[in-house]
Amino acid sequence: VNESSPESIIRSLFSGEIPQDRAFPFPRLMPTEQAAVRRLLATLRAMTVRDPSASPDGADQDGPAPLIDARRSDAERRLAPELLRALAPLGLFGLTVPPAYGGRGLSTTACCRVFQELGALDSALAVTLLSHLSHGVRAIQLFGTEDQKRRYLPALSRGERLCAFAQAEPQSGSDAASIHMRAAPTHAPGGHLGYALNGTKIWVTGGGLADVFVVFAQTEVHREGARVDRITGFLVERGPGVQTGAEEEKLGVRGASTTALYLTDLHVPRDSVLGAVGGGFKVLQETLSSGRLSLSAICIGAARAVLQRAVLHATTRRQFGRLLSSFGMIKDKLGQMQIDLYAAESMLYLTSGLIDRSERAHPHLTYGRRAAVGDVYDAAAGFSMETACCKIFASEMLVRVASEAMSLGGGAAFMGDYPYERALRDSRFFLIFGTTNEILRCYLALSGMAAPGEQLARLSEAIRHPLRGYGLVMDTLLDQVKVAAYGGPALTAHHPRLKREAVAIEDTAEALQKGVDRALRRHGRQISEMQYVQRRVADVTMDLYGMLACVSRASAALRAQDARRAAGEGVEAAGEIDEAERELRLCRGFCSKAIGRVRKVLERFNENDDELMKAIAEDSYHGRIYPHDILD
Ligand SMILES: Cc1cc2nc3c(=O)[nH]c(=O)nc-3n(C[C@H](O)[C@H](O)[C@H](O)COP(=O)(O)OP(=O)(O)OC[C@H]3O[C@@H](n4cnc5c(N)ncnc54)[C@H](O)[C@@H]3O)c2cc1C
Repeated sequence: VNESSPESIIRSLFSGEIPQDRAFPFPRLMPTEQAAVRRLLATLRAMTVRDPSASPDGADQDGPAPLIDARRSDAERRLAPELLRALAPLGLFGLTVPPAYGGRGLSTTACCRVFQELGALDSALAVTLLSHLSHGVRAIQLFGTEDQKRRYLPALSRGERLCAFAQAEPQSGSDAASIHMRAAPTHAPGGHLGYALNGTKIWVTGGGLADVFVVFAQTEVHREGARVDRITGFLVERGPGVQTGAEEEKLGVRGASTTALYLTDLHVPRDSVLGAVGGGFKVLQETLSSGRLSLSAICIGAARAVLQRAVLHATTRRQFGRLLSSFGMIKDKLGQMQIDLYAAESMLYLTSGLIDRSERAHPHLTYGRRAAVGDVYDAAAGFSMETACCKIFASEMLVRVASEAMSLGGGAAFMGDYPYERALRDSRFFLIFGTTNEILRCYLALSGMAAPGEQLARLSEAIRHPLRGYGLVMDTLLDQVKVAAYGGPALTAHHPRLKREAVAIEDTAEALQKGVDRALRRHGRQISEMQYVQRRVADVTMDLYGMLACVSRASAALRAQDARRAAGEGVEAAGEIDEAERELRLCRGFCSKAIGRVRKVLERFNENDDELMKAIAEDSYHGRIYPHDILD
């Protein structure tokens, strides 16, 4: 469980507080970056092959041959070799790297918006860039020494070299601490020379293309007088002792390279260590946390592209003498897709805005000189609960959107001519990559409960030693009196038209706090084993964060509408409802569904069939797996 930032919204929600100053107003992309991002997106779109199924006569494209072609990369199981070369001059490979190291120095929000576009154009290209920029390069940016940054970042930012990130091994996936790759210290007469690395990594995204790899290996360190194994990050370069395997056959993101990485007696100097010796777990966790935002952005872009095709299909395909779009069940699908998308976007850009704001507030720490390894300011790490929420929600949203679009497309969607089946195959990747959603749910719930858990433990200790703990007991009692007298957490920063939704947020925040308090009192330390409870806590947290993000965003849109009206400007283009009104509907739609889900989950905190479900699962572990057959 990571230490969350005091600025974390979710940390406050777990304490029963709604941090309005951080959730409102909804952050915007800095005006200085707007033009640069727009230009970049326009160039990327111009490089993209049009989807022939979207417009029958749209296959021919004027201008230079488009290189971004999701269908081709999927069919050929690789990116066009000239594509990455063509993208390099755009600065995509060093989007967030400070200009001092050869990058474009864009904010997290700007970077997410670019990844969103890449997700819409080709998921395989997007994840290749994610692995390079948001995992490999990011790890160097956050944990590299000044010398390592100067050595690696300029060529990586220019796209002259590619980077990949390798943690997973055949025996070690979710349990990252259990890796087998070993880094043994090498010695020369003068002393400690470096390390000899041996072992195998699997499923390295970008493995076949990369020149530099961030790898993790066990190293022996001294802890409290004993020798123990701890993971350490290393920077290794393709060359003797470093080999990549054949391309994997995959379900989705087929255009992305995925290979094994074999290190055989690879001797590296001491300055190949990334971060502290024995501090690799921190490098891994913090890098993955920040990468989850790019991943969410890709899911959002992919879902938007699918939605676009689905609406086109529904509004042109006729059955029973009517357009599909006129049927209730079709409307339900298209409405649900949009509210999910709106919530995923709102969560992502609220989080990226928090990170940008936090980095702006600590500029001297962000990319400045480091007094010691580990003394680096990583805003994304402090918002790891928010990034986990974004990743879980956005990846599951994409699976739902892709799956519903398949249904809506009928038989045609099942065929390769349409992009739905590729979107559905690709979508499964995001549930696994960058830490699986199961592990992230545990992480989110346990991280959130850590602070209230500590408070509870300290409180029970304080009650046992009333004099020593007098202040804490009094504070807690005062908090409880305050809640009893004035009600639970209050939200006032929303637009008045979102009163109902604001009340739902207040109620959910209070219910979450009470539910967590009850769960902690009931299960104590055993809470770490109670995954049914953890899943419920995580699901309520996600919906709560989603509602807050939507209300913040829609409030901003409504306030802008108020300002336009006050200035006497017309708001509605002919035949279209104002965008702010549409946002109001989307926000209300998401909150309405979220409230329903939260109510159901909260009920299950008290009354559930957890023990029955565990027993059913365990029955299959002993004896025959599923013995029932009508033939018997
Ligand atoms: C296409 C692809 C590309 C990848 N690229 C990279 C890469 O570039 N770099 C890299 O390092 N890795 C990469 N990976 C590996 C990826 O990170 C792992 O697959 C992932 O972490 C899950 O590990 P695993 O596959 O071993 O599954 P396991 O850890 O064996 O898990 C199997 C299932 O059990 C669940 N589970 C495991 N432990 C628990 C628990 N304690 N409680 C509840 N449920 C649990 C998991 O959520 C999952 O559903 C890639 C994987 C794929 C498929």
